[in-house]
Amino acid sequence: MSGGETLDFEIRPNPAPVAAAERSALLANPGFGRIFTDHMVTIRYADGKGWYDARVEARAPIPMDPATAVLHYAQEIFEGLKAYRSADGGVTMFRPDANAARFRASAQRMAMAPVPERLFLDALDALIRTDRDWVPDDPEGSLYLRPFQYASEVFLGVKPSSEYLFVIIASPVGSYFKGGVQPVNVWVSRDYSRAANGGTGAAKCGGNYAASLVAQAEAIEHGCDQVVFLDASEQRYVEELGGMNVFYVFDDGSLTTPPLTGTILPGITRESVIRLARDRGLTVREELYSYEQWQADARSGRLREAFACGTAAVITPIGTVRDRDGEFTVADGKAGEVTMSLRDTLVGIQRGVTADPHGWVHRV
Ligand code: PMP
Repeated sequence: MSGGETLDFEIRPNPAPVAAAERSALLANPGFGRIFTDHMVTIRYADGKGWYDARVEARAPIPMDPATAVLHYAQEIFEGLKAYRSADGGVTMFRPDANAARFRASAQRMAMAPVPERLFLDALDALIRTDRDWVPDDPEGSLYLRPFQYASEVFLGVKPSSEYLFVIIASPVGSYFKGGVQPVNVWVSRDYSRAANGGTGAAKCGGNYAASLVAQAEAIEHGCDQVVFLDASEQRYVEELGGMNVFYVFDDGSLTTPPLTGTILPGITRESVIRLARDRGLTVREELYSYEQWQADARSGRLREAFACGTAAVITPIGTVRDRDGEFTVADGKAGEVTMSLRDTLVGIQRGVTADPHGWVHRV
């Protein structure tokens, strides 16, 4: 199968869906990642056979043999994107084609059979059409979509699996910031790194997140919301946060973000921010930026704003930066003007309130 190929989906409706009244109660306060819709997509793969058995079926546990390869060697990748309720009652997704392409790239890095991009997009549409009543009407809410793929061959040999299962589940989520956008405090990890040159940093594989949890726990212990990783070889250059990319805004109005050298995740929000900033005539550099420079620029006032970005929180101002030796604050520690204005534009496009000059919004 090439990138343009797809399959027909067999729809097997859940015989016992959540009742409408209960669903409304759940949607009133969904939180994050604990409530799920009635259905899931499953598609199987086997060497020699390709992708087959595309289904939308009742969401249910997936029984697994204890020798299933993913449980031993972590051959697993995932994606995360959101579906929004638009003003006219329709449902949209933001740049799902970019998620499809990144999923394919992650698969290639992990020696997995790639899901054709057309099939990935059709699978998202099929699930949303079946579970569209689960997309929150609340203008702050959304339906978080979690496509993932794992090695399902029952075999203990260390080698690329000959079988895979591709699954999409969906979870309604509420506003990330209850009571308005708040700057986050970040912890710069000096003991742990996220990804080395030649490693898997640019792939969205589960193992990257397992490896980041101890650093994230350290951040929380130190009163911070997120961890900042430095490069693995010199522990000098800023890479990204545990689940977000990072941007700096300077006094001349220009922006800097770390380059895609293979050790950071190529965020779809990151790429969208670069384009929106350039649309405004702002200079955006994709350039190495050291932690030392960050401290010096915050001290001198050259650095006016810093923000993190990703699907979950869109754009989040960074307030205080802390490490084992001390802390400093970016400007006055409040949300900056450029940060909030880029955020408004991006959220406006995602929600269908602002014009969409790049054709990023996909209607289901
Ligand atoms: N970096 C990491 C490590 C992430 O997990 C994410 C979230 N997917 C991001 C950056 C931001 O990526 P995106 O904008 O595509 O959500």
